[in-house]
Amino acid sequence: MEKGKVDLHVHTNFSDGTFTPAQTVEKAKELGFRAIAITDHDALDGIDAAAQEGKKLGVEIIPGVELTAYYNKAEIHILGYYIDYKTQWFRKKMEEFCRDRIKRAERILEKLREYDIDLNMEELQLLKGHGFLGRLHIANLLKMKGHVKSLGEAFERFIGDYKPCYIPKIAMAPREAIEMVLKVKGIPVFAHQALTQRDGIIPDLVKHGLMGIEVYHSEHSAQNSRYYQKIAQKHNLLETGGSDCHGLGKGEVLMGKVSVSYEVVEKLKELKRKLDEQR
Ligand code: AMP
Ligand code: ZN
Ligand code: FE
Ligand code: FE
Repeated sequence: MEKGKVDLHVHTNFSDGTFTPAQTVEKAKELGFRAIAITDHDALDGIDAAAQEGKKLGVEIIPGVELTAYYNKAEIHILGYYIDYKTQWFRKKMEEFCRDRIKRAERILEKLREYDIDLNMEELQLLKGHGFLGRLHIANLLKMKGHVKSLGEAFERFIGDYKPCYIPKIAMAPREAIEMVLKVKGIPVFAHQALTQRDGIIPDLVKHGLMGIEVYHSEHSAQNSRYYQKIAQKHNLLETGGSDCHGLGKGEVLMGKVSVSYEVVEKLKELKRKLDEQR
């Protein structure tokens, strides 16, 4: 029997998406999703707002987060599902990451000035999601001001990983990100692997508690998905998937492009039950 479709990777304007949590849930309803996971970068306050709207519209909301780690200069993103997001120390940690992001954005703007691009913090603050400021906001401002023709060009020429105006965020190792998710009883999943291509670290991350791989993603080709499905099977990891929708933050609305069966949510819930039992 068809159980319904879900999107396990969605951003709201509490990080660098452009839709409010309510708008995000409305979109999910319109597209026929049974459930979506709210996975803002370093931010948790979109979850309750989405859950409230979800209750009204009959869309189940899975609490989540997306953390950034670094490995051999590559940005590794770790998703955490069913995290206990009310945990005080965890909330403090996310606030610390967001404060660091504001300082980092100031440093990126300084770098851009070396290229005769003068953007100011006030303009950037108008685009930002609540307390969160990221490169996608800077890319959108660069485009709005006519310094680049596309978001891709902004990343390619200036702010993409290790491009001339790149400044890293607080450096966490992938293991630490996984441990952090586990400490708040969440399920750690390696996000959009094909974009980072650091497959070599998977066995070590599995040892440290990694439980899933995001096999399906808007930027994964069918071939990428087949490849990561095999890796997931080899390590007995959960195969998840999501659109990584940022509202209009990436130019187009990605929700609807990728979905997985609600069966994946049932498996996540089973893992969560096991984590909650370990005390
Ligand atoms: P940050 O967490 O501030 O470093 O920004 C990461 C955000 O930038 C994520 O939403 C990424 O998907 C986005 N991003 C990174 N590289 C690119 C790129 N080349 N084109 C478009 N978006 C990108
Ligand atoms: Zn993002
Ligand atoms: Fe990501
Ligand atoms: Fe994401």
